[in-house]
Amino acid sequence: MTKFSDLGLNPLLLKAIAETGYETPTPIQAQAIPLLLQDKDLLGIAQTGTGKTAAFALPTLDFLLEYPEKPRGRSARVLVLGPTRELVRQIAESFETYARHTGCTVQSVFGGVNINAQKRALHAGAHILVATPGRLLDLVNQKAVTLKDVEVLILDEADQMLDMGFIHDLKKIVAQVPKERQTLLFSATMPKSIADLAQQFLDKPVRVSVTPPATTAERVEQGVYHVSNGDKLDLLFDVLNAPDMDRTLVFTRTKHGADKVVRKLLAKGMDARAIHGNKSQPQRLKALEAFRTGACPVLVATDVAARGIDIDGISHVVNFEIPNVPEQYVHRIGRTARAGRTGTAVSFVAEDERYFLRDIEKTTGIEIEVLARPEGSKVDLLPTPDPNERLYKPKGPARGTGGRGGQARSQSQPHVQGKGKSAGGRRHRGNGAKGKRKPEGARAWAP
Ligand code: AMP
Repeated sequence: MTKFSDLGLNPLLLKAIAETGYETPTPIQAQAIPLLLQDKDLLGIAQTGTGKTAAFALPTLDFLLEYPEKPRGRSARVLVLGPTRELVRQIAESFETYARHTGCTVQSVFGGVNINAQKRALHAGAHILVATPGRLLDLVNQKAVTLKDVEVLILDEADQMLDMGFIHDLKKIVAQVPKERQTLLFSATMPKSIADLAQQFLDKPVRVSVTPPATTAERVEQGVYHVSNGDKLDLLFDVLNAPDMDRTLVFTRTKHGADKVVRKLLAKGMDARAIHGNKSQPQRLKALEAFRTGACPVLVATDVAARGIDIDGISHVVNFEIPNVPEQYVHRIGRTARAGRTGTAVSFVAEDERYFLRDIEKTTGIEIEVLARPEGSKVDLLPTPDPNERLYKPKGPARGTGGRGGQARSQSQPHVQGKGKSAGGRRHRGNGAKGKRKPEGARAWAP
């Protein structure tokens, strides 16, 4: 098995990894880190929970240690873009954790909070800037930061950024980043839109893919309640009352639905909070913190808001509504099986959702167990449907947030210099750092 010490990372990073308690690299780390240490561009197909953040943060910090110039004022040497404030905060926290012995500085910027404090924070510049695209562009337009010193560009959860309509912002941002750079793009899924983006932004990327849907799904104990839509709220209350439900993430399809669920639970005396796009940043942070510390055992979230939330120890995921896209289902239930652990996920399936359940079972290759009603519950569950029943895809607009295309391969055109590719390293500033990267073979990386 690959060890962290086999990967060729700087000892200061190995020290931080050991202190964090990681023993062995996750598959994406074992695959991606050696390639990134060779300055390659990377297209990573990986979901949250696979350890992808460390997979890009560690080699990036290694690069900064190898070329230890201070960032200039109002600039950054590494730019990481993510779709949501929560994800941005988590990425920044991960960088800080791994960078604790390196002296590298990290700043994060995102919308929904006052811009002036962020402007001031950027004054001194940062080694690593983590940002949501919209706020970053605002700051660039107001000349609070320039992107012309960026040497490593990382796009995390790119599919989500596209789903959220960030494509134009992304293009504007990338146009301002020097062409001579290393670019990493991570996405949970690989629809054609992402393949196209990769083709535009990346240079001969290596492709690393981990946890195809079935792999995560296999680690999670799954069950389904067949229940009418009208009985779902009562059933949820009864399910949440079971003694082992320590920390439960409940997914609803809409923001309105999330609020309704929370109202109902609160009315019945159960503490629950919601996070979704209509909540203010302080409200979201407060809810997340209460959930993280265990003060509030139930968090109700929409898919978009929950994306990238990195909370360990989620014991259960409840799909109050089942998603219409199998990948979304796998993504949701993966929240309870972080970093190799197992978890439990239950789904409430009404009659009009059966088609989607079957679709999920087909994709994951898992027949989800039909559950009997929880002890003490008075809810009348629907009879178990006949497996041979003909099901039709419900008409109307796609439900849920996860409409995704199929798999597509990416191709790309070269534009990045790297070791052995040309005279220079990936640095673009003419400050003498060019070509300093150790020659290939100097690192003890495992092929
Ligand atoms: P990510 O996919 O980056 O969101 O990471 C998911 C979780 O796995 C985070 O809580 C990390 O702290 C944790 N993690 C990352 N790498 C490792 C590792 N090598 N060993 C154990 N846990 C890890």
